[in-house]
Amino acid sequence: MISMRTIEELHSQNHTLALYCLSCNRWGVADLARLIQNGKGDKPVTEARFRCRDCGEIVEKQVRPPVPSLGEAVAYI
Ligand SMILES: [Zn+2]
Repeated sequence: MISMRTIEELHSQNHTLALYCLSCNRWGVADLARLIQNGKGDKPVTEARFRCRDCGEIVEKQVRPPVPSLGEAVAYI
């Protein structure tokens, strides 16, 4: 069982945290490395709050698993 409770655990498992602003209908990605650098690595993901750069609203969060690299994918035509 892999623990991904905090921002640092999420980052170390190569997951990303997508952010969505309802007001702007805009997707973004949290800069987890920068948050960890700033000492926020221990913060539980569920408690982290992110604000939209454009409108200042609290945005929605969505944990995303790592995307497989294209090199491992087999193309079918
Ligand atoms: Zn916004």
